[in-house]
Amino acid sequence: NLPLAEVDPEVAEAIALEQGRQQNTLEMIASENFAPRAVLEAQGSVLTNKYAEGYPGRRYYGGCEYVDIVENLAIERAKALFGAEHANVQPHAGAQANNAVMHALLTPGDKIMGLSLAHGGHLTHGMKLNVSGKLYEVVAYGVDEKTGRVDMDEVRELALAEKPKVIIAGWSAYTRQLDFAAFRKVADEVGAYLWVDMAHFAGLVAAGLHPNPVPHAHVVSSTVHKTIGGPRSGFILCTEELKKKIDSAVFPGQQGGPLMHAIAGKAIAFKIAGSEEFKDRQKRTLEGAQIIAERLSQPDVLDAGVELISGGTDVHLVLVSLANAELNGREAEDLLHEAGITVNRNAIPNDPRPPMVTSGLRIGTPALATRGFDAAAFVEVADIIAETLKPGVDVEAQRARVTALCEKFPLYDGIEKW
Ligand code: PLP
Repeated sequence: NLPLAEVDPEVAEAIALEQGRQQNTLEMIASENFAPRAVLEAQGSVLTNKYAEGYPGRRYYGGCEYVDIVENLAIERAKALFGAEHANVQPHAGAQANNAVMHALLTPGDKIMGLSLAHGGHLTHGMKLNVSGKLYEVVAYGVDEKTGRVDMDEVRELALAEKPKVIIAGWSAYTRQLDFAAFRKVADEVGAYLWVDMAHFAGLVAAGLHPNPVPHAHVVSSTVHKTIGGPRSGFILCTEELKKKIDSAVFPGQQGGPLMHAIAGKAIAFKIAGSEEFKDRQKRTLEGAQIIAERLSQPDVLDAGVELISGGTDVHLVLVSLANAELNGREAEDLLHEAGITVNRNAIPNDPRPPMVTSGLRIGTPALATRGFDAAAFVEVADIIAETLKPGVDVEAQRARVTALCEKFPLYDGIEKW
């Protein structure tokens, strides 16, 4: 029962170094966030010791009376937050949630249709090396080259020609809102299930700042750690009609014992997501992305060949195209890293460069909004990014500006209520 620093100083030191990195740099990876202390506490609790195969009230292990309370809280809060008839909160992560959705709705060999990975889809939506691409036949729609947006006429045409059993609406790198009602219409026309993967934008939905897919989709899957800012994990929402299929696809279909410490973290995250503070944070998340999009559309940046895919954003991220810039994705990611800003390089639609290099950047605002960044702070961040992407940048000077922001917004201490 010794503390971590004594039992394993090497791991303890790596954790301390990571905490320092998170404090002293600007985290702008669009899929990342800072889980509140209460979530960290729950995840480090004795719940990690408990086996609880099955569902509340129907477990295959004894001693589940208290973990049942936790899981029921998570289920009821998820249902209330998104207006869903049923919630399964056991998926270990987003990928596991997605595997379970396919397991519930499809048999191997059936056809799925999702946004192509190269155009912003996720690898669990049918990428050939992923289990989704190995078990199912895959057709993919893309984004329009000029507008950077999903074209619903193209989606409909492809669906009519291919007759998929499941249509997937959802993305990892896309800057506009999808039209869920139009997707459902197409799904109904071809007799397909509509599955929305809201992993990225679920926090915006919870705050009422993005259309809710739940009324339109047969099934909605999500992560809890991106815009929601909870523990790393997943969950699934569905209609009462699909409840049995989804539950048995998660357990025993895909997983063994649920991670009760993570489920406690989900319950807490869903409680927080119903608060006014959370709504304010999501508003600042969107505002920050708008501010960055505006700054990166100014002539001095355009002159450096830096462009925005879709010309702007309606969500928590911007996608930068460097197809006409001297810098490639990897070089731009490295330069921003030197300046103290963490982003990820990202392939752009029809990217001329290889996947390890790419011609794009994905820049997200959720983590900084959680850290307390307001419009003025995002104006400064946007300018640092713009200056760093221009030729002849003084990286040291940009690093100093980043350090000043990091000091002004201390991690965790800066999060007022939660
Ligand atoms: N679905 C989408 C749309 C995602 O962007 C991601 C993660 O990036 C996932 C699913 C997978 O989530 P996880 O990394 O928790 O497995």
